[in-house]
Amino acid sequence: MDPAKRSSVGARSDRRLEEQVQDWLRYGEDLGLGPFYRDRPPLHAKVAATSAAAEARNVAASGVISAAAPAAMAAAAPGRAPAAPINVAPSRPEKSVPVVKTPPAAPASTILPAAAAPSLFEIIERIAGDTLPRIREDIGDCTRCKLHKGRTKIVFGTGNPDAVLMFVGEGPGRDEDLSGEPFVGRAGKLLTDMIKAMGLEREDVYIANVVKCRPPENRLPEKDEITTCSPFLMRQIDAIKPKVICTLGSCSAQTLLQTTQGISKFRGEWFDFRGAKLMPTYHPAYLLRNPGAKPEVWKDLQKVMAVLGLQPKKR
Ligand code: URA
Repeated sequence: MDPAKRSSVGARSDRRLEEQVQDWLRYGEDLGLGPFYRDRPPLHAKVAATSAAAEARNVAASGVISAAAPAAMAAAAPGRAPAAPINVAPSRPEKSVPVVKTPPAAPASTILPAAAAPSLFEIIERIAGDTLPRIREDIGDCTRCKLHKGRTKIVFGTGNPDAVLMFVGEGPGRDEDLSGEPFVGRAGKLLTDMIKAMGLEREDVYIANVVKCRPPENRLPEKDEITTCSPFLMRQIDAIKPKVICTLGSCSAQTLLQTTQGISKFRGEWFDFRGAKLMPTYHPAYLLRNPGAKPEVWKDLQKVMAVLGLQPKKR
């Protein structure tokens, strides 16, 4: 093919890729779910390598994200995610989309895919050299969503920046809003006890939330708030690279796994998330109201301990 023709074919395929990503974004918006939300087929659905998946792999393989990448992600990394193509770290090797054959009760070691096709979270590659201080700096004195109006302090996250285990909650409550630290209230004390029972200290793990500002009256974070704030959580996960992410409650599990299913349907099962293993379990605040659910959570934590080679704390 003559060079002029080849370059026009290349330009056409770039445009096609961009159109596909834009279609994808529009699809999420049509569902009223925002750019990071798509209703998903059942979590155990058989996974097929769709053309979208193939495109996603192309994007990842080329190391370049089209200018159509979600505005929220760009806003989460000002100056580091320009509108034009982004150079990405030559991060973890590309993984093919796994095929899950049969759904039944998964043994502890089975890793289920989080989605039937790569999500936008999976398409968006990590930002080269990103660090927690840089992410905090990018958040700044945030006014990106309405939650800033009622907050006292931004609750960024705390713990070991090299943690192998990361807990992700929903959003700060009153105590956290005042102190600027996640999980320091009653639910936080229970989380600290859970961490100790796993043979760890709070300082060994990293703890963050989906939204960094307290929702008024501790209401659930709303979709626009989650969409605005969760790219910072993604960056935290990418910077820490934990082996295991343990989501606490439905908000964080549904956000990361991009599902609207109730948590009781899938807690205790392993999922694959951006190179980490993800274990959804109940929120400690739920356990305070329903102590009968503690054995279920302990079972989930034991699965995490098995993967990390942890021994329960001796009493
Ligand atoms: N609940 C959460 O989800 N996060 C906190 O930081 C505190 C309570």
